[in-house]
Amino acid sequence: MAPTHTALPNGLGTSFLIVGAGTIGLSTALHLTKRGYKDITLLDRGDSIPSAYSAGNDENKIVRADYEDPFYATKALEAIDAWSHDPIFIPHYKQCGYLVTSSGAAPDKAKSHVDRLIRSISSHPAQPKGCLTTLATPTEIRKHSPRLTGPLSGWSGYINSHAGYARAAPAMKGLYTELVARGVKFHFGTAGDAIAILPDAETAKLYPAPRPYVKTADGNVQCADVIILATGAHTARLLPQAGAQLTAKAWAVGHVRLSATEAKTLLHIPVVNCRDLGFFFAPVPVREDEPNGDWLIKLCAHGGGYTNRSMTSGGGTSLPPTQSEENDAIPVEDEALIRQLLRETLPEFARRPLERKFICWCADTADSEYVIDNVPSYAGLVLASGDSAHAFKMLPVFGQWVADMIESGSQGEVRWRWKTQDSDGTEDINWRVGNVRDIKDVERRSDETEKLVSKL
Ligand SMILES: Cc1cc2nc3c(=O)[nH]c(=O)nc-3n(C[C@H](O)[C@H](O)[C@H](O)COP(=O)(O)OP(=O)(O)OC[C@H]3O[C@@H](n4cnc5c(N)ncnc54)[C@H](O)[C@@H]3O)c2cc1C
Repeated sequence: MAPTHTALPNGLGTSFLIVGAGTIGLSTALHLTKRGYKDITLLDRGDSIPSAYSAGNDENKIVRADYEDPFYATKALEAIDAWSHDPIFIPHYKQCGYLVTSSGAAPDKAKSHVDRLIRSISSHPAQPKGCLTTLATPTEIRKHSPRLTGPLSGWSGYINSHAGYARAAPAMKGLYTELVARGVKFHFGTAGDAIAILPDAETAKLYPAPRPYVKTADGNVQCADVIILATGAHTARLLPQAGAQLTAKAWAVGHVRLSATEAKTLLHIPVVNCRDLGFFFAPVPVREDEPNGDWLIKLCAHGGGYTNRSMTSGGGTSLPPTQSEENDAIPVEDEALIRQLLRETLPEFARRPLERKFICWCADTADSEYVIDNVPSYAGLVLASGDSAHAFKMLPVFGQWVADMIESGSQGEVRWRWKTQDSDGTEDINWRVGNVRDIKDVERRSDETEKLVSKL
């Protein structure tokens, strides 16, 4: 398909440099190729796709259109359609259903969130008829998902059959292969590690809308007619003025190892999300080519999220640590939540060691709205971020919103505009339970974790 434009609004040409080849960067490249653009380059500081620094670098992610806000429900339904029908994404999606609950001990906030989700799904005209079944008691949940043999103490909620999970890292690898085949260029490691956007913000203010370029760690500079920053939680390190609206926040992930025989009994469970504890998935093989080898269940703990202000920026903007190894330990209290989740659902695994533990970083906004807009003071610099921990499911569709904004020259969707109101990252998010804390204030020592497990 020929490009629909040889020039973009604002007199911009049609070469694109995307900084960050994570969820949003890859999706943006896909949609630019779909629109016929030929000159597209991605930079990533990781060594390969998925990058060790990407929030998408994970076994699996929930794909669901269960949003309180019908706007995002509609967008996620479009994404589910693409996961189900687009040959690039089909191999990586499993529509196994999504069980959403709160426990008997849950705060009212978690319970009322589940109630609002039920109302939102029932009233959304594009949700398939009959996809929602309310499960008001532990007995009803067990009847629906008999493999959940734990007590499910006071659990109630619903199951949505029009949802499931994506194999995250394989989906990103598959998309990368597709993009290479479409002629998209990639630079990794030091050649892909953007260390500065030039001119910097202060200099940019002195000249009307200067053209930006990107300096990389190997000493080169990269430029293009349009530069798209899709650097997720790391964005404010490159573009400090984005730190007023993007707060890096992390949540804890861990895995339990199963034999193939154990895994087989769990292959058909839905994604289980208890809003006050955490969520987990059916097991996946450690190696795709060894289905008789070990398998892993991925689990995440819920909470308000952790910032990292002190270690990186002297109490200022929250940013992820610069090295991914610093993420390889989880708070003891999150390990406790994950074990509680297992005790309630799959008690036979509650004492098994958690492995592949890490904290995973997102770019949170005050209202959980994405940001897809031109960066003020620059010509041809676009920010595509603010994922707020709910963007992986949008992998097949996110890039079309970025391409729409670039082609129209401005962001018509008010909620996705560059945010002028500062966020301190501690705002109450209606769909999360728990307070925001700094990672330095929580215990992550493994001996403390062992003490916890020995008490179980
Ligand atoms: C624990 C957890 C669970 C989640 N579960 C789900 C879920 O179930 N479903 C769902 O839809 N979403 C989920 N999410 C959210 C989802 O992972 C994110 O919304 C999404 O991955 C964000 O995409 P992104 O492209 O903005 O950032 P990323 O995917 O993090 O990509 C940013 C990229 O930029 C690169 N980069 C950074 N700095 C530089 C630089 N200076 N130069 C070059 N490259 C750079 C990084 O290497 C990375 O590849 C979850 C998030 C967390 C933390």
